[in-house]
Amino acid sequence: MIRLEGVGKTYEDGTVAVQSLDLDVAPNTLVCLVGPSGCGKSTTLKMVNRLIEPTTGRIVLDGSDVTDADPVELRRGIGYVIQQVGLFPHQDIATNVATVPSLLGWEKKKAKTRALELLELVGLDPATFAKRYPHQLSGGQRQRVGVARALAADPPVLLMDEPFGAVDPVVRAHLQDEFLRLQRDLGKTVLMVTHDIDEAVKMGDRVAVFAAGGRLAQYDTPAAILGA
Ligand code: ADP
Ligand code: ADP
Repeated sequence: MIRLEGVGKTYEDGTVAVQSLDLDVAPNTLVCLVGPSGCGKSTTLKMVNRLIEPTTGRIVLDGSDVTDADPVELRRGIGYVIQQVGLFPHQDIATNVATVPSLLGWEKKKAKTRALELLELVGLDPATFAKRYPHQLSGGQRQRVGVARALAADPPVLLMDEPFGAVDPVVRAHLQDEFLRLQRDLGKTVLMVTHDIDEAVKMGDRVAVFAAGGRLAQYDTPAAILGA
């Protein structure tokens, strides 16, 4: 589904963020990228949806080189969730989630209906939450809205960068469990960045362990990683 072949990224200032990275992600699996801060995890994620262009190598999505795709078209098929979910403060939650389908040209009513379904899906009762504003939500609830928004266009691929990082441990465990259930039910292919090895082995079908200098140290099942 996603294949990285000899991918490297050196930033304009000479910082080597990622080096000769090979990674294969099978359809409908969740792969966690784990490792210390600054080892190239976020950079790797952003190269998949072309927020950043690789310096070397290539990234193949569903058989096609991502550099051949129109970036806007490419991102329709890729949901993106980050730690500090940027919700529009002056729009209610349903409108926030409906933004993506609206941008894709969905008719207003259909986009709204979809938004309510998605809120339900991520465990936010639409009757309670649709009309609330972002500042009226807890951190965990805002992360759920971020996931709902990323799912809005029904992309086959999700990229998640520390999606549960900003919430307390109890809420975090709950969000992890719910997300795993959601991912299996919907059949999404997920690349998820975390600095927490416990989260990586809990959630990943496979775990990619990054080391300093943006090198892949290990890529294996959680059982093999724990046994190593
Ligand atoms: P991680 O997600 O593992 O914390 P990043 O991919 O964010 O790591 O960063 C990898 C390396 O690239 C770090 O040394 C970071 O400082 C550097 N880096 C990230 N973004 C830029 C940038 N825009 N310009 C220069 N260096 C950058
Ligand atoms: P958490 O511990 O998950 O961060 P909070 O303490 O932020 O939760 O919020 C607890 C509950 O109060 C949540 O259900 C949230 O929706 C609700 N809440 C928080 N702020 C407001 C507000 N300004 N108006 C209405 N409800 C709120």
